[in-house]
Amino acid sequence: MDSSHTHDQPVHDVPANATSEVDGVTGMAETTDAAPEHPSAAAMTDLADAEPTGDLVTASTTGAAPANGASDAVAQPSASEEVDSPGAPADAEEAVAEVPAVPAAPARRALPRIMAVANQKGGVGKTTTAVNLSAALAELGYRVLVVDLDPQGNASTGLGVNARSLESTVYDVLMRDLPLEDAIEPTSVKNLFVVPATIDLAGAEIELVPAFSRELKLKRALESVGDDFDYTLIDCPPSLGLLTVNALAAAGEVVVPIQCEYYALEGLGQLMRNVQLVRGNLNPTLELSTIILTMYDARTKLAEQVAKEVREHFGPVVCRHIVPRTVRLSEAPSFGQPIIAFDPTSRGAIAYRELAKEVSGGAP
Ligand code: ADP
Ligand code: MG
Repeated sequence: MDSSHTHDQPVHDVPANATSEVDGVTGMAETTDAAPEHPSAAAMTDLADAEPTGDLVTASTTGAAPANGASDAVAQPSASEEVDSPGAPADAEEAVAEVPAVPAAPARRALPRIMAVANQKGGVGKTTTAVNLSAALAELGYRVLVVDLDPQGNASTGLGVNARSLESTVYDVLMRDLPLEDAIEPTSVKNLFVVPATIDLAGAEIELVPAFSRELKLKRALESVGDDFDYTLIDCPPSLGLLTVNALAAAGEVVVPIQCEYYALEGLGQLMRNVQLVRGNLNPTLELSTIILTMYDARTKLAEQVAKEVREHFGPVVCRHIVPRTVRLSEAPSFGQPIIAFDPTSRGAIAYRELAKEVSGGAP
């Protein structure tokens, strides 16, 4: 309808030095984690100590961004009492196992919100979270769009869309300047829509490299749908390459799912540095707003330990509600349904509903 597209708008809002800086981002993305041997505790220490180095610092701690305390949490391990009492397992257990008394309800954020669901590790629950949090937000009454930015296309199939049978996907939006609205597909859930992906998108990671304004393709495309959607959740691939940079540049917030398992925290420092880089160069208001603990297995001490560490280091951005490990959540995608449709009373459905309320502040 209204075709106030912003395609022709200045691309000059990228600082002159952005190209080289962002090369840093994508260049970094290619380096894999140097220290794969970390148990979670050690990884956390790394995270706490992580002083950005070299030109990576430019975007970081200089206070340019209205940091919400997330990066502060990284820099200054807080929560003194808990840290001081490592020898109190009983208390610690309770602290993690129970949802703590509800803190003052967080102020609702202004809509629309665009959230990049990112973590360069695979298999941590990004897609499961993007699909199910979106569906639960839609159930609350919000209009929600999922952008599948992973060439695996799991969010698309999980929402019952067979992208292979479609004419247009997110690839066409990024690479052929197809208007985003032409790639939007409905899902079986009311108020929930998806821009699907296929394996073609794998090519985009490379094809984007020489493209003009390559980091801002998705941002420009999303601007064209304006505030048609209250929530847009972008399901990122398990890497920190150009696709993820596009998501971080387009988003207002980063949502990081963290799997409550061994090595859970490995690589998080790198993710945080990338967020800071994007903040410094492309998207000054990008905020790490939400950490979601996933695949929590209440029977293991380790899950509890990881959850506790994440809370200590990231503080209030960690959601109070945790996603349990449950087989129903892993079965739902093969039926092309989010958990709230597949098994509405299951623990997974309840968890994502609670998370949707927590993240949004409740029904609109
Ligand atoms: P990512 O997108 O980060 O790679 P996925 O969301 O695809 O991760 O999850 C990886 C695998 O774990 C998938 O098979 C998914 O079905 C399963 N899974 C995700 N969350 C849960 C959970 N809470 N309980 C059980 N299985 C889960
Ligand atoms: Mg995924």
